[in-house]
Amino acid sequence: MENRSKDFLRRVVEEDLKAGKYQEIVTRFPPEPNGFPHIGHAKSISINFGIAKDYQGRCNLRMDDTNPTTEDTQYVEALKDAVQWLGFKWDKEVRYTSDYFSKLYEYAIKLIKMGKAYVDSLPEEEMREYRGTVTQAGKRSKYANRSVKENLELLEGMKKGEFKEGEHVLRAKIDMASPNMKMRDPLLYRIKHAHHFRAGDEWAIYPMYDFAHCLSDYIEGVTHSICTLEFENNREIYDWVLETLELEPPRPYQHEFARLNINYTVMSKRKLLELVEKEVVSGWDDPRLPTIAGLRRRGYTPESILNFCEQIGVAKANSVVDVAQLEFSIRDDLNPKVPRVMCVLDPLKVTITNYEGSEELDASYYPHDVPKEGSRKVPFSKEIYIERDDFMENPTKGYFRLTPEQPVRLKHAYIISCKEIIKDEQGNVVEIKAEYYPNSKSGSDRSGIKVRSAIQWVEANEAKEIEVRLYDRLYNKEIPEGIEDINPNSLKVVKNALIEPAVITQKPDIRFQFERHGYFFADPVEYSDEKPIFNRIVSLKDSWAKKKKTDRTKPKTEPKKVQIDGEVTPMTQEEEARFEKYTNELKLNSEVANTLARDKQLSSFYEEALTTYSNPVNIANLVTNEVARELKSKTIGELKFKPKNIANLIKMVDDETISTKIAKQVFEEMSRSGQEPQKIVESKGLVQISDPAVLLPIIEEVMAKNPDNVEKFRAGNSKLFGFFVGQVLKATKGKGNPKVVNELIKEKLNS
Ligand code: ATP
Ligand code: MG
Repeated sequence: MENRSKDFLRRVVEEDLKAGKYQEIVTRFPPEPNGFPHIGHAKSISINFGIAKDYQGRCNLRMDDTNPTTEDTQYVEALKDAVQWLGFKWDKEVRYTSDYFSKLYEYAIKLIKMGKAYVDSLPEEEMREYRGTVTQAGKRSKYANRSVKENLELLEGMKKGEFKEGEHVLRAKIDMASPNMKMRDPLLYRIKHAHHFRAGDEWAIYPMYDFAHCLSDYIEGVTHSICTLEFENNREIYDWVLETLELEPPRPYQHEFARLNINYTVMSKRKLLELVEKEVVSGWDDPRLPTIAGLRRRGYTPESILNFCEQIGVAKANSVVDVAQLEFSIRDDLNPKVPRVMCVLDPLKVTITNYEGSEELDASYYPHDVPKEGSRKVPFSKEIYIERDDFMENPTKGYFRLTPEQPVRLKHAYIISCKEIIKDEQGNVVEIKAEYYPNSKSGSDRSGIKVRSAIQWVEANEAKEIEVRLYDRLYNKEIPEGIEDINPNSLKVVKNALIEPAVITQKPDIRFQFERHGYFFADPVEYSDEKPIFNRIVSLKDSWAKKKKTDRTKPKTEPKKVQIDGEVTPMTQEEEARFEKYTNELKLNSEVANTLARDKQLSSFYEEALTTYSNPVNIANLVTNEVARELKSKTIGELKFKPKNIANLIKMVDDETISTKIAKQVFEEMSRSGQEPQKIVESKGLVQISDPAVLLPIIEEVMAKNPDNVEKFRAGNSKLFGFFVGQVLKATKGKGNPKVVNELIKEKLNS
């Protein structure tokens, strides 16, 4: 905890502890068991359980089961599963609001006796009219004058099921003119003739959230009742109930945070239920859903989800988080952990005509930059399969894989070259006859043959057939409205992919990287030895960033986080820390600092540049303008220049080797060719001209060509000064040192 900057909830908790308000911190996660928990719940779980853990307190898991018609034990189980899978433990037994029904009823009786609650019998429509509007006070129902005795009798009758649904309700007697509409005599109980999955048929009335929640918190000794922002206006009722009942302190207090929204998906349980019921997805654990069960089945790790929750932080304003950030978390988690293996999704047969027999090749599971070690044997023979699109008969420019002219390396094996293309009657390539270079074996290559890439492959006889499920975003639209926005290609099933045998003999609950395809997880539900099925957890790169790039008709500004309702997206803690540093330490203006702070890629690039040369302001300007513009159409890996090149470019401006204007030109050239800026300046002769001996003749020539303007200037038209500077700079092709040019012209014109 010490080093992490604290969110506002933790700050509240610390203040309360310091003030001695509570001896121990008690939080709770209070879901309604009416659907499977989703990643938004994960955020709430990580906050509530995380705070309890950080401050040696406890966190309860409470099923908020006050709405019998939508609740079910399968959801209770899913919620328990989710909490445990994320690595948390709730205090003692799982708790249920329904366990407190009798106590809540007693509290209701107490309110009635205090004259603070009454049974109302207005028809629903009138009740709504009586509430008034935001600008107009409501008026109280005539039933509010019922005697305590009458109220008690009616409530008992309601409880026993003597009335029809909607006939009566119990309301708090607060204030029909309150500016907070929620305080206008809120409902405490309603009649519902429904079977409750735990309480059975004992109750014909069920408590409302506003009554049940605060009291359940109090009964459990909760100290910090953390909920999402939509309950902000309910806080007043929360406090009113506990205060009016004169409950002894310490009492719980409610604190609100922003709920998590993610683009290209939906998060409300109602909408998720609709997808399940209409069979748009295969069930609550469909790997395309943002449910914990779905993410888990897809292969997400608990660590990746908790890291994600931590990165997005706790804020007080609603925002939409880019799903790419979630994808980043899982890649980041798996990259250093999982073995790399070879799988071919769309097999093309290759026969290596000059190879005889078979062998087993040693193949490391991990690349050099991953600290783990381990290897397996990969069988090799004259018949192998490669990926169909790793061969091109008529290659496009920049195609680095196998072609009739271009050899390619088989990863962990040999270099091969194409000798013959076999086609079927329709002209489709069905097989390649190739030759291998015996002395080109990976690790001991003495062939001297240059290849431009290495591709994955599998040996034909030993390879195993598997089914691969490739997932894409469930919705086409950033903020989906409904089922009409479903992405029809969100699931692609590859029935006959081929995989190297080592993968299949492994325990199926581990994750792999299939080289060049992404990270994969054996489907925990349907995988069997007869029919191995793998889910793609995530591709290796953000393929949507690419798609956007090529789609030039669309506006290219796609911010990392989307703003909704004109609200400014709050910064995460990490972003905020960067912003502080940039404005305070590095003295960037807040606009530039804001751009950098909110963009992790850009800020890392920037900070790396600073390690080469330290001019924070000028480098920041170039990075947020020029580099950021490049990144709208390229990924960072595609940039031809490195941070240090940018630093050197600014350095040349600073020591007056080049002018700012020329710097732009050098930048353009650098992003095209990838040459060092110094080289570009040298080879193109772009060094700034500061020498008066060179500049003076040019100035004289410009003056000689424009005698009229010289006249006019000397007669007092000082505006023409700019004209001369412009002309001279133009004559030097932008290389003239503007400062020197200025001075020399001033001198010349005034002489
Ligand atoms: P939904 O609108 O998805 O049905 P809910 O708020 O009705 O969600 P509950 O089961 O009542 O779901 O929520 C349990 C807890 O999880 C609550 O404290 C709620 O505030 C929190 N929670 C629900 N959705 C989110 C979310 N998207 N982001 C953060 N917390 C959430
Ligand atoms: Mg709810």
